[in-house]
Amino acid sequence: MTDRVMIFDTTLRDGEQSPGASMTIAEKLMLAEQLERLRVDVIEAGFPISSDGDFESVRSIAEKVRTLTVAGLARAAKGDIDRCWEALKGAAKPRIHIFLATSDIHLEHKLRKTRDEVLEMAREAVAYARTLCPEVEFSAEDATRSDLAYLSKVAEAVIDAGASVVNIPDTVGYTAPSEYTARVRHLFDHVPNIGKAVVSVHCHDDLGMAVANSLAAVQGGARQVECTVNGIGERAGNASLEEIVMALKTRRDLFGVECGVQTEEIFASSNMVTNLTGVIVQPNKAVVGKNAFAHESGIHQDGVLKAKQTYEIMRPEDVGIKENHLVMGKHSGRHALRQRYEEMGFNLSDAELDKAYVLLKKVADKKKEVYDDDLVIIVRDALHVTPSVYKVKNIQSIAGNQVIATATILLEKDGVLLKDSATGSGPVDAMLKAVDRITGIEGKLIDYTVRAITHGKDAVGEVFMKVNFGKAAFIGKAASLDVVEASARAYVDAVNKSIHYQMALDAHRNR
Ligand SMILES: [Zn+2]
Repeated sequence: MTDRVMIFDTTLRDGEQSPGASMTIAEKLMLAEQLERLRVDVIEAGFPISSDGDFESVRSIAEKVRTLTVAGLARAAKGDIDRCWEALKGAAKPRIHIFLATSDIHLEHKLRKTRDEVLEMAREAVAYARTLCPEVEFSAEDATRSDLAYLSKVAEAVIDAGASVVNIPDTVGYTAPSEYTARVRHLFDHVPNIGKAVVSVHCHDDLGMAVANSLAAVQGGARQVECTVNGIGERAGNASLEEIVMALKTRRDLFGVECGVQTEEIFASSNMVTNLTGVIVQPNKAVVGKNAFAHESGIHQDGVLKAKQTYEIMRPEDVGIKENHLVMGKHSGRHALRQRYEEMGFNLSDAELDKAYVLLKKVADKKKEVYDDDLVIIVRDALHVTPSVYKVKNIQSIAGNQVIATATILLEKDGVLLKDSATGSGPVDAMLKAVDRITGIEGKLIDYTVRAITHGKDAVGEVFMKVNFGKAAFIGKAASLDVVEASARAYVDAVNKSIHYQMALDAHRNR
């Protein structure tokens, strides 16, 4: 049997930064399906007791995803575990993931309990969860700052109670590689029943060592690594899935372990996470950054042209990056478009292709050369998962350094046209205010990003925004050759998501 490391993806739980709902349930489902194509071993779908939205997304993912283990998070309390199981029970392979802190700092200041009390809570919670679910993981929160002898005792107790995975997370991003290897080895040497469980690790990147620490733990014997796509997560983020997977693959000679991830799906997964969360990957990011495979210096370029392995340790195609062909123009047909999309890994329905084709014509009218990048943007729009309550029909804005920025927008709702105007500190501000006047829902802009995603001065601009409507925040996004238009559409997208989120919750409550 090959020595295998399980990849536990927590993009949907730890990676989802803001509690509430930055990703809608439909978007989480879409990402879960992509993670299935990526062939991770476990998806942590959410923390069911934390909100109705989280519960509902865990429940839908558990029902839909059949090939992987679906985990839900719970504190070491009966109410949490019951709620978690309620969400997970439809899964083909469910796993309840219980966490409880074991460091003295957390025991004294957060839990206000003694070590013996916490040990008992852990044992009881795991034993109870096992009466519901065949697979239970236990996480000793803040394990890297916990007393080693006590941590070993807790590990022994929870394995005894039926946990088949014991996670020793570096919750605060504090440890360093050599120390972490030693900590994992200590468990193997001092926990008598450790052979009955898989040792797991979960690292945060506060000191920039999350990936290095995770790999060091694998060298110490850990056989599950928890990570997120693009390394997104709390604070400085989690260990990045793509970096861990590619390190294990590229340096198999060193690590000597296998993982089941389909690396060719990495780039598509990274793009999807960027697209859904609005958290953009830095250009020099390992494996998935825009420049990760770009050779700029003359000497390097010369070497790569002569023999790729002179400066390339991984091939872009291994992570699913294809060359950016110049493909489409004004006269390209639907058939060619469908074919190109299939090559890029998108299987569009006829209706989606129709929509993409109309968008392609629009872009090609304004821009002579349409690249793969443009096609990705077009397909994102065509595959848009949130049905629109409000649709943007027309916009007009006036701006300049001597005029008062003014915007007018025409929206459609249930076949009725609604028009309003507003002034603001700039055209985008005026536009968003005009939308608020029509919808009657006031949004608070928390984050706003514009980036050029294609080549040239006539590049398509993509706008991401995070908007707070009352309690929950939503990501709105849109791409256009006109930034004011993209902003208006991104904002309306966020409005639509907030309305749908509310509708989904109401439907859930009435069931
Ligand atoms: Zn974490």
